[in-house]
Amino acid sequence: MDCIFCKIVAGELPAAKVYEDKRFLAFLDINPINKGHVLVIPKEHHEALTNTPVDILKDLIAIVKTLAPAVVSGAGGAGFNLGVNNGKVAGQLVDHVHFHIIPRLDNDNLHPWPGKQYAEGEKESYAQRILKSLES
Ligand code: AMP
Ligand code: ZN
Repeated sequence: MDCIFCKIVAGELPAAKVYEDKRFLAFLDINPINKGHVLVIPKEHHEALTNTPVDILKDLIAIVKTLAPAVVSGAGGAGFNLGVNNGKVAGQLVDHVHFHIIPRLDNDNLHPWPGKQYAEGEKESYAQRILKSLES
């Protein structure tokens, strides 16, 4: 399997691990948004969040909940962003599902995503389209 994260799980690539159990692993992102940025992964390979079994995701989010305050405190931060990039268009570079825990510091100069505006009636139309997709 040509997957960087599977290689980390197998011990074939190094990682600065901050959590490990039988099914999950967390380690420092090699190219952090802020220092202390952690990736949390299931050891089992699943490409993206949308094709990962729900029981794995439930256990993953429980680990995130325990780990995130430690990440914040270890990084000397005041909060965190939790991120999942799902699909290439969303910036997913590694096709092994992972949650980013990004510690946030006062005045760290990370800018929020810009907000767009809906035209008249457009919000309702998007809501309808999403509801329809859920039904099909
Ligand atoms: P994403 O864009 O959501 O797929 O994020 C992939 C993340 O993996 C990026 O933030 C990379 O910096 C990080 N990354 C890639 N290779 C490694 C590695 N060998 N060890 C730690 N983090 C890595
Ligand atoms: Zn993998």
